Amino acid sequence: MIVMKFGGSSVRNAEMIRRVLAIAASRLDSAPLLVSSAMGKTTDALVLIADHAECGDRDSAFSLIERLEQSHLAAARELVAGERGTGLARAIGVLFEELRSLTQGIFLIRECSPRSRDAILSFGERLSTLVIAAAARESGVDAELLDARTLIRTTGDFGAAAPDMESTSRLTRDQVRPRAGHLYVTQGFIGSTPDGVTTTLGRGGSDYTATILGAALEADSVEIWTDVDGIMTSDPRVIPEARTIATISYDEAAELAYFGARVVHPYTILPAVKRSIPVWVKNTSAPDAAGTRIQAEIGGTGIRALASKSGITLVTVQSSRMLNAYGFLRELFAVFDRHRISVDLVATSEVSVSMTVDRDVDIASILTELEELGEVSVEREKSIVCMVGRGLFQKAGLLASVFAAIDPVPVRMISLGSSDINLSIVIAASETERVLRALHAQLFQS
Ligand code: ADP
Ligand code: ASP
Ligand code: MG
Repeated sequence: MIVMKFGGSSVRNAEMIRRVLAIAASRLDSAPLLVSSAMGKTTDALVLIADHAECGDRDSAFSLIERLEQSHLAAARELVAGERGTGLARAIGVLFEELRSLTQGIFLIRECSPRSRDAILSFGERLSTLVIAAAARESGVDAELLDARTLIRTTGDFGAAAPDMESTSRLTRDQVRPRAGHLYVTQGFIGSTPDGVTTTLGRGGSDYTATILGAALEADSVEIWTDVDGIMTSDPRVIPEARTIATISYDEAAELAYFGARVVHPYTILPAVKRSIPVWVKNTSAPDAAGTRIQAEIGGTGIRALASKSGITLVTVQSSRMLNAYGFLRELFAVFDRHRISVDLVATSEVSVSMTVDRDVDIASILTELEELGEVSVEREKSIVCMVGRGLFQKAGLLASVFAAIDPVPVRMISLGSSDINLSIVIAASETERVLRALHAQLFQS
């Protein structure tokens, strides 16, 4: 069997959904399970709806809901005619009534807990899959809609729920019987706690859903269908010259995803690695293009792609207590641990430690504790530019050519990961695009 995941832009309107269904129909022999994102920018709109309701701006929230309802109904009308169309419109109406009630509740109490927010955000995928499954049936495909909340069992960490792979596998295998000629359709991004409360896996999480279900069903492959030809040497929105990469290893892809290449969600690779399931990245608008195959080990050395992550904060703790002493780093990281703050890059000297954390981290909350360990400085608006490849230690002259390309932009920190596949530099966020362009020209265009 195969899992095919389609992203928001791939299902943004009726015309795109037709393309998606054509692709799925051509793969019916492989017993597909189709995982879909919300249509277009629906999830962004749902975030705004929750924000408006929480702030007491009922009118803005409800007019956004109205717009969403109209666009879903318009797509439904184009795709499904007659009595079946009326039935679909009614089902869409029921979901929008539920969304309006929830929004009204949030508006009345002026509070949107992470749990309520996940309930609101779940509507995007529930709506898109309702339309897609009905459209598939209308086009003659034997399609069946599954509620992902009965398949994906998660923790109650709303907004970033973690799947319980064991329960998920059991639930999925109980309900899904992949077979040639039959199309299963389900939602990406959403799941539920053991008590049945709706959760989300985090923004962009539909990719993760695809590999979670792929692992549960021991899929032959997982396909991530999106709006670019595959994983490219850099984000093509920033570097138009970026080229598609034919094959990339699991660890390189994971590294790229973690350091900002939005094309796959950072956790996507994990479930696939465990069962050695190949993951393809393909373009919905160019299905015949080769795409990228993510798989176990591949040969070759050198840098294969660049990614960047902005909004980085650099925290430096300086202390003479580090000199000839042990236990300092343990104390330092215990502070981050207690506050559940994850650190990406670390550099140390005899008397100081620099670490990067994401912008949304509440540094103020740990400052007092860090100051007990030494003098603390906080530098904001940095970005990490990450070069991912293989055998980077062995490449003579690599660092020289990287720094020559970046010159004269100052580098604030460097990390050549112990894994030998990631060379990262920290620079001022304002210089990100310039540095990416210079590096891409140096490493891939010369
Ligand atoms: P989807 O809605 O299909 O999940 P996303 O917008 O999440 O799509 O991801 C696709 C986007 O990822 C592309 O449009 C591209 O701008 C961006 N991207 C960032 N880095 C890369 C890269 N290295 N290769 C390909 N795309 C990338
Ligand atoms: N719709 C969700 C989002 O926009 C999940 C996804 O598309 O992967 O974040
Ligand atoms: Mg995505």
